[in-house]
Amino acid sequence: MFSRNTKKRTRFSDFLSGDYARDYIYQDIPYTGQIDRAAKLLSEADYVLLGAGAGMSTAAGAEYGGRFFEENFAEFQKIYGKGLYMQDMYSAGFYPFPDQESKWGYWAHQALLAGIDLDVTPLHKTLLDALTGKKLFLLSTNADHQFEKAGLPTEKIFQTQGSYRLIQCRRGCHPKTYDAEALFRQMERERVDGRIPHELVPKCPVCGGEMTMNLRVDDHFVEDENWHDAEERFGCFLSECKDKKTVLLELGVGFNTPTIIRFPFEKLVREHENITLIRLSRSKAMVPASLGDRAVGINADMAQSIEDIARILV
Ligand SMILES: [Zn+2]
Repeated sequence: MFSRNTKKRTRFSDFLSGDYARDYIYQDIPYTGQIDRAAKLLSEADYVLLGAGAGMSTAAGAEYGGRFFEENFAEFQKIYGKGLYMQDMYSAGFYPFPDQESKWGYWAHQALLAGIDLDVTPLHKTLLDALTGKKLFLLSTNADHQFEKAGLPTEKIFQTQGSYRLIQCRRGCHPKTYDAEALFRQMERERVDGRIPHELVPKCPVCGGEMTMNLRVDDHFVEDENWHDAEERFGCFLSECKDKKTVLLELGVGFNTPTIIRFPFEKLVREHENITLIRLSRSKAMVPASLGDRAVGINADMAQSIEDIARILV
C-alpha cells in the first residue's frame, strides 16, 4: 500500500471533467488533407494517449447484432422471443432472465463471443505498428481486451468499465473480481435450452449472494486492485505527458459515456498548448471549433482512416 501515491500523478477523478462543447463543428477540410494533418501530428509527437470506445471494436470487425446475433444467439431468441431485447448483445444483456441458471447461460455465451474469444486485432495491430517508438497509453471503455491481444502490454492499458473475463459480487460487497474464463467455458459446454446446471451458478465467496459480470452498469461495479493499479499508471502517464508533445488519439468514442474520454480529452487540449487531438469516428467526429488546428476530426470509416494514416507513418 505504501507504493501508492509516491509518484506524481493526476488523479482519475480530476481527469474526469469537461462538458459538452457548445461549438462543435464538422471540419470542412477534404479527407486527404485531414489524413495528412493527423499523420503529421502523430509523427511529431513523443507521447500518444489512445482513447478507445465501442466504435474501435466495431471498425475492426466486431459484430453485436443483425445477422451475427441471429446466427449465434438463435437458442436464446427461440426461448425468450426476439422482442425488444433479443436483437443484439447490448439489448439482450438487459433481459430480465427468470433465474440465475438462465442468466449465466446467456452471459457466459456473450462473454466468450464478445470478449474472451473475440479477435478483431489486425486493425489494432496496424495502428500499434504505426505508432512504434511513441510512448503509448490506452484508456478504453471497451471490455474486450483487443489492444492487449494485439500486443499492447497490459501495464499500458486502463480498461475503466470492466472486463468480459471477470465476475464480481452483484452487490459489490468486497473489492475483488474473479477470473471466470474456465467457468464460462464449462457453462457453454453444459448449457441446455439456455440454462446451465444449478451447480455451476457462482456464489459470492464472502456474502453468499448472487454474482454478476464485472461490467460497469450500476454503482455496485467493483474496482479491484488491478483496476486501481491501472488507474495509478494512467495518472502517472498523464502527469508525464502534460508538458510534452502529446497527441490524444480518440478512436470510436460516441456520446454513450462522453465523460470518460471525449470531454476530458477536449479539456486537456484546451488547457495545454502542447497537446493536440485526433478524433476518428464513423459519424461523430465533430470537434470544438475553438480548438482550431489543434484538433483534427475525421468523420469516416475508421478502419480506412487508420490504414491511411498508418501508410504515411510507416
Ligand atoms: Zn458479496
